[in-house]
Amino acid sequence: MAQKRSANHIYDYAIIGSGLCGLSIAAALSPFTNNIALLESSDLFGGANRPIKFPTGIVNNGLRFVPNTESAIKALNFLEDMLGVKVINGINDTPPITYNAGSFKPFVGFGENPPPFYEELNYFTSNQHLVLNLEPYAWTQLLFERFQGDFLPRSYVTKFHTSDSKATHITINGAKTLNAHNFIFCGSIKDLALLLPDDSLGARAKQKLNKNIYWTGLSLDLCHSHEVTNSSAVHVLNGTTEDEIGPCVGKFSPSFFDQEKSLQASQWMTFIEEEVTEDSEVVATTLKKIKRQIKRAYPEALESLVLERIIVSPLLAGNGELKLNSNQSLPSVENLWIGSAAANPQKNLIGGLLQAHLIVAALGFEVGTTASVLPTIEV
Ligand SMILES: Cc1cc2nc3c(=O)[nH]c(=O)nc-3n(C[C@H](O)[C@H](O)[C@H](O)COP(=O)(O)OP(=O)(O)OC[C@H]3O[C@@H](n4cnc5c(N)ncnc54)[C@H](O)[C@@H]3O)c2cc1C
Repeated sequence: MAQKRSANHIYDYAIIGSGLCGLSIAAALSPFTNNIALLESSDLFGGANRPIKFPTGIVNNGLRFVPNTESAIKALNFLEDMLGVKVINGINDTPPITYNAGSFKPFVGFGENPPPFYEELNYFTSNQHLVLNLEPYAWTQLLFERFQGDFLPRSYVTKFHTSDSKATHITINGAKTLNAHNFIFCGSIKDLALLLPDDSLGARAKQKLNKNIYWTGLSLDLCHSHEVTNSSAVHVLNGTTEDEIGPCVGKFSPSFFDQEKSLQASQWMTFIEEEVTEDSEVVATTLKKIKRQIKRAYPEALESLVLERIIVSPLLAGNGELKLNSNQSLPSVENLWIGSAAANPQKNLIGGLLQAHLIVAALGFEVGTTASVLPTIEV
């Protein structure tokens, strides 16, 4: 809840964006100060990671997958330290599968025809993934509970103002002013080209941000009226060259029993270029292609669907190659840190957590390291 502050109040930290990265920084700083403003353009905190009510229970807002890598374990240990609970439960070493020539086979790569968004999909094709005690939607809920400052929803930051290489204040919704000693931007990096004054980013950097290819994530969450499969493998469905169906990835959840009926959720995603996000024809065709892929692999999966949800996530991928100082601040604005997941080489959930960790450390704060003795809780 936000306290009533005078118009010339100066926050220690203004965090712009309450997604995973912004919330992690907000929660990590909270034991040290509550003079923090957490600004969010929408009504709700959580960004991409929110709980969604589904007939099979609460699910993530779209497919979520965490590969078993050293970086992922490091990032989740940071999260565990902030939350004080165990997040990692174990390792699932079911390799990804694909459907080809009438049967399921191990997925071994895209061969000579990788999709243009290969790097985004490749993330999901790792042979092992982490099994989680807490899903990403619960991370953001628990991080928010640990936040002690002022949460300001419906506060769209429309401009940064700078003086002598320092940010001094921001404009909210084109009208209100908010002052702070330090600013941490956790929105889309591409937007910095619009939000920063001309002399703060430089013409070349702006050009780079605008020219980069950004990808929109297109997701389909399905609730099937029966169990389709008991496979926990990531499915990489790649169509055929004849019908030019682009690849998509997806996963089935364990079956859910509702009054003697068994339901099953599955979550799928692919990418389209950000520029065509508003083109409803492209979106509809791409979703149709995902469904066609699923039907080819599981002919009865789409019969009597209980529910389907479509999630369009613009600017989900692509970073615009923004050059940052080693402490993750902007070279030309020394008190403006860039906290977006896309600013971290790991990107995605892991990038969001690692970027938050880097910034918290750069600001001189330490989060305790007690992961091995943490309790587990269910949310
Ligand atoms: C459908 C889907 C599936 C995904 N699957 C996976 C997966 O399997 N594995 C994985 O690792 N990652 C996955 N991701 C990506 C991962 O969720 C994100 O990379 C990560 O959550 C990004 O966190 P973030 O804090 O950087 O950004 P976000 O969660 O996008 O949060 C940014 C927040 O900033 C706010 N904001 C932006 N600009 C402003 C402004 N100017 N003023 C005020 N507020 C602003 C936004 O409203 C938003 O709430 C997926 C994402 C989606 C959408």
